[in-house]
Formats: sequence, C-alpha cells, structure tokens
Amino acid sequence: MYNPKSHNAEEFICHEEVLASLEYAEQNKNNIKVIDEILAKARLKKGLNHREATVLLDCDIPEKNEEIFALAREIKNDYYGNRIVLFAPLYLSNYCVNGCVYCPYHLKNKHIPRVKLTQEQISRETEALQDLGHKRIAIEAGEDPVNNPIEYILESIKTIYSVKHKNGAIRRVNVNIAATTVENYKKLHEAGIGTYILFQETYNKETYERLHPTGPKHNYKYHTEAMDRAMEAGIDDVSLGVLFGLELYRYEFSALLMHAEHLEAAFGVGPHAISVPRIKKADDINPDDFDNGIDEDTFAKIVACIRIAVPYTGMIISTRESAECRKRLLNLGVSQISGGSKTSVGGYFNPAPEDEESAQFDVSDRRPLDDVIRWLMELGYLPSFCTSCYRQGRTGDRFMEICKSQQIHNFCQPNAVMTLKEYLEDYATEATKIVGEKLLPVEIAKIENDTVRAKVEENLTKIHNGERDFKF
Ligand code: SAM
Repeated sequence: MYNPKSHNAEEFICHEEVLASLEYAEQNKNNIKVIDEILAKARLKKGLNHREATVLLDCDIPEKNEEIFALAREIKNDYYGNRIVLFAPLYLSNYCVNGCVYCPYHLKNKHIPRVKLTQEQISRETEALQDLGHKRIAIEAGEDPVNNPIEYILESIKTIYSVKHKNGAIRRVNVNIAATTVENYKKLHEAGIGTYILFQETYNKETYERLHPTGPKHNYKYHTEAMDRAMEAGIDDVSLGVLFGLELYRYEFSALLMHAEHLEAAFGVGPHAISVPRIKKADDINPDDFDNGIDEDTFAKIVACIRIAVPYTGMIISTRESAECRKRLLNLGVSQISGGSKTSVGGYFNPAPEDEESAQFDVSDRRPLDDVIRWLMELGYLPSFCTSCYRQGRTGDRFMEICKSQQIHNFCQPNAVMTLKEYLEDYATEATKIVGEKLLPVEIAKIENDTVRAKVEENLTKIHNGERDFKF
C-alpha cells in the first residue's frame, strides 16, 4: 500500500502507485482542462506531486509544452537566478564487489586496471583540483568492504580538507559511496561532509534486481532505504538520481518524485539536489545494450518537469553530457554542473591517456574548467564556487525554509560574486578574467540590500589584495 511516510521502500516507492500514475498521465496527456489545472497549480511555484508532474511530462499538446518550458525557465530564474554552482568528482578507488551490469567497475571486469589512491596520492589530486580553481568536490568510490572500508573514506575526507595549497582549499566534500549503515552515515556526518549522494539507478524493483545480479547492491530494499538511514544519522542534505536508460523514463520520473515526496513527508526535508545522469559508453559497457535510452527532447522535458515539480531542489548535470546538451538544460532548470572532470582514478594529477583506462565512463564535455567558466559567463550565467550554506549551518530544513521564502538570493548572489572574484584572481586565464571583471559590476548591482552590497564591494578589494574565504 502506498504510504509516503513509511520507511519501507516498497510502500514509499509503491509499484502499483507508479503504474496508476502512469495510467492517469496516459489518460490525461491530451486533456486540456486537467493540464490547465495542473499548470495553474504549478504557477504558484510551490511544486507538484508525482501524478501531476507525470501528466505534464506526458503532455502531447505543443502549445502546452511551450508553457511548461517557459514556466520551468521562470522558476529556475526565481529560485536560482543566473547562478551556476561548479564542482568536480574525485575518484578514490575503482575496486568494487558489485555486479552492476552498466558499470565498468563490476567485479567480473578483469581488464580494467584497479586503482586505489593512497593518502599521499589523494593530497596530490586535491592540489591538482585546487590548481584548477575547484572548491567543492564529490568523492566517488566503488563498493568494497576490504579495499574501500569506511575508515578509508573517512581518512580520505580528512586528507582532502587538510590540503591548503597556494590560495586554494576544498571547502565542501560531498560523498557518493554505496548505501551503508546508520552508524557509518553518522561517521560521515561527523567528518563534515556536505551532501550524501546516492543514485537509485532504477526504481523498478524487478529491473533493479536484474541489473544488480550480485554483490551487496543487489538488495533493492537496503539501497532504496539508504537516504532514510542517512537522515536518521543526521545527514540532512541528500542528493537523489536515476541512471536514465536503464528503465522506462516515465516510470523513473514518477518514482523519483515519489522518493522526494517521501523525504519531505517522513523527515520534513526534501532532497537537496537531483542528478539526471544518462548511461554512457565505458570499458566493457555499450549503452546500446540498454533499450531505454532517451533522446535530447525527452531529456529536456524531464529536466523542465523536475524543475516545476520540486522548485527548491537543485539539479545537477555532469560532464557525461556534451556542451551543447548542457547549454540547453541550464536554461531549463539545472543549477549545478561539474567542470574539467576526470573520471579516472588519479586523473587530475596524472592525466596520461593510459589513466583513462580506469575511467568510469566517457566524458563528453572535455573542456578545461576555465573554458567552462568563460562559456557560462558568455551565455549570461554567473559561475559560483560558493560552499557557504553548509559551512554556515544552513542545511536541511533551515536551508529549505530560506529557499522556500526565496530569501536564498540574499546569500547566494553575494557569495557567488565573491567566489568568482577569487577564481578570477587566482586561476583564470587572461581571456576569462576580462569577461569576468566585466560581469562582476553587473552582478553586484543585483544585490538589493545596500549594506550587503557595500560589504561585498569592500570584500572584493580585500580579495584583490590577497585575503580569501569571505562568506555570508
Ligand atoms: N559505488 C557507488 C554506488 O554504488 O552507488 C557510487 C559511485 S559510482 C562511481 C557513481 C554513479 O555512476 C553510479 O551510481 C551510476 O549511476 C553511475 N554510472 C555507472 N556506470 C555508468 C555508465 N556506464 N554511464 C554513466 N554513468 C554510470
């Protein structure tokens, strides 16, 4: 029985409820009256439930689809302005005991070189990331209790936070590791992580079990209830995602929103972010072996409908996607992107081609971070290296409250401006610096509060003179 408050995976992601929602959407996808009612609710900009959002996703009427895209852009602008937050993944180890059929790390893959970074190598990777200008990273590791135990992950986080190289620092470490126990989530929380990230891959239990035939990840219930355990352990910023291409996208979309509704119903805090990865070519993996790939237009519609359904949840798109695809999605709701990413273990310090062999998947957007920053600014966006919210204790329900009242601009805009200034001073090429210095006064002028604006201007002078890490 469907119950968003339950902590039982099969009740909060209820298969029958997903099917009923898909049926309802199918019946109403051409029903102008129903669609107009849903759009009227969506225009309040407080979100939609999974059923309503699935009707919009399925909607077949061209004029209504135009309205859907326009509304997504408007909501994006209201909640996130033109800011785009930057991050990079840091792969620690590709040892893995699972059998995920879409992932090159799977246990049976005997020709991928297995690599696990030592703490010294992690320091070097961290320095290399700092030299690019990154302040926020997501650590990634395969699941292997012997090679990658929680102690290794905790030690690695400590190492990363401890590296202070030139003017650089990693100020927020997000963590993408396999589902684990409440006790381990508590340890991650105590280690000062930002967001805990775990992709569901697919919400369809039968498909999930088939695609994860062996290893601890085979357990659908344990994996699906991971965010409940993380929240129980005190981690109140969690990030969801599905790997599009594995299952029918309509099923995933509806269930993903049910997961978000569950977190809100059970803990009073929805997901901090949602990722929308699509399956890519990798060692031993051919995406054509999976029948549920989605085209660019469907992908854009999914992003727009997520933006409308959960306005307060950030949306992340990685370098799995091309520059062209990312450009389209930025406009429709994406608020965070990776840049200059290496998906091979040790790939930042040692970007030799042979290292790519340990990569998790092919990266489509291979541009250096500096090109991505300049490109964003030329497209009218304000790149942000802000990590302030979690460091100032604005997490979970505190963050959501500020976000829901649209007060978040008062923090995000000044922090974006100040962290971009740091980037321009320390890491930008001349071409990027020219574009950035022109942009700063335009973005400073958008800060409404006179005192805050004056403070930001004062801080920019201090940053120019060598001080770092100002934040609101
Ligand atoms: N091992 C951790 C786990 O089990 O959740 C997470 C780390 S894994 C390095 C990060 C994510 O990469 C996975 O959750 C999966 O969605 C994604 N991934 C795996 N294979 C992929 C592929 N061939 N193309 C695109 N993304 C892939």
